Amino acid sequence: MHRPELLAPAGNMEKLKIAIHYGADAVYLGGQAFGLRNKADNFSIDEMKAALDFCRTKHVKAYLTINSYPRNESLPELDEYLAQIAPLPFDAYIVADPGVIDAVRQVSPERELHLSTQANTINWRSARFWQQQGVRRINLAREMSLDNIQETVTNVPGMEFEAFVHGALCISYSGRCLISSMLTGRDANQGECTHPCRWSYHLVEESRPGEYFPVVEDENGTFIFNSRDLCLLEHIPVLVTSGVHALKIEGRMKGINYVASVLRVYRQALDEYLANPDKWLCRPEWLEELAKLSHRGYTTGFLFGQPRNVGQEYESAYIRSHDFVGVIDEVLGDGTLLISVRNRIKAGDLIEFIGPGMRNDSVTLQHFLVFPERGAATPSEVANPNQRILLTVPFTVEAGDLLRREKITG
Ligand code: SF4
Repeated sequence: MHRPELLAPAGNMEKLKIAIHYGADAVYLGGQAFGLRNKADNFSIDEMKAALDFCRTKHVKAYLTINSYPRNESLPELDEYLAQIAPLPFDAYIVADPGVIDAVRQVSPERELHLSTQANTINWRSARFWQQQGVRRINLAREMSLDNIQETVTNVPGMEFEAFVHGALCISYSGRCLISSMLTGRDANQGECTHPCRWSYHLVEESRPGEYFPVVEDENGTFIFNSRDLCLLEHIPVLVTSGVHALKIEGRMKGINYVASVLRVYRQALDEYLANPDKWLCRPEWLEELAKLSHRGYTTGFLFGQPRNVGQEYESAYIRSHDFVGVIDEVLGDGTLLISVRNRIKAGDLIEFIGPGMRNDSVTLQHFLVFPERGAATPSEVANPNQRILLTVPFTVEAGDLLRREKITG
């Protein structure tokens, strides 16, 4: 059986390392221009070099996103950028605009090209057209059904295809959306989306400005534009047998907790399926893990046809049951760990350690050592974000494993 690549977002160097620690076969990242995620702390040229070196040592592929649609006035800057990155050995560029493809061809004619979902490929004739242009792989539009995916893969032999399996969905057609431009002047199609589809709204009658009619779906108000998040974990078998070459996870702007938690689940689910497809079952604990993350309710999107109201999130904005509180920087020996704290923790907290392969251990915090601004570590019962602590645990963990705690409510 062919083994699809598990392709993960890498919004910065830390996220890249976490993605690889938790089992990504390939990562995609953006430079500081033309990458459609202007708010992600994107990679400088030096950081790209370091990222590529790291990926090589781990035998992980790295793709660079150049998938915005530049206007005429940006073309000189694009040429300059392409010349700067030309010596970097990315495995492929992810592009959308034919003008960008043409520019890449001039500067780096041998570079493998992957077509971004921004190009909205939804049928096999489009795919064949792109194949004739020398595109090696297409990230299919999220708006395709499984039947359409299968038909497209079958009709364009030699082309590689990617399907999104997890992450946020636009309420409009994959980013073809003007709400952010309209309300904030920030253009989603230039990578500046402010996500106004997730905001809550009131109704105002034209001749009564200032009189807001509440639109109430529940105690949270209304989220009339708010899509649920895509989750195709249960449908890994049909996606693999459809012949797609990569299962892609969305979320370069999400935190390391998201990257780690989603990958550890999909990694194990995919590996178990590939090892024993006939006996594969989607384990409830995998779905429970994904429910612990901040999300807006899950949907299968368009995979089985038009989503209609099942794709709409009417219940609430974000749901999550756990807080991410830290990451292991180093394992020092004798079970002593150097931990970078990301959320306040204190004695008495029940802390879970999560690692690749669904490793999961927990400990109730007692005393630990905290590093102050200066000087030696001192015993403490509280640690705050950005502090580092020394903690000893009675189980085996690895650098890069994450710590989380059940969400404190009230
Ligand atoms: S406002 Fe929402 S639907 Fe529009 S591009 Fe941004 S995330 Fe997508």
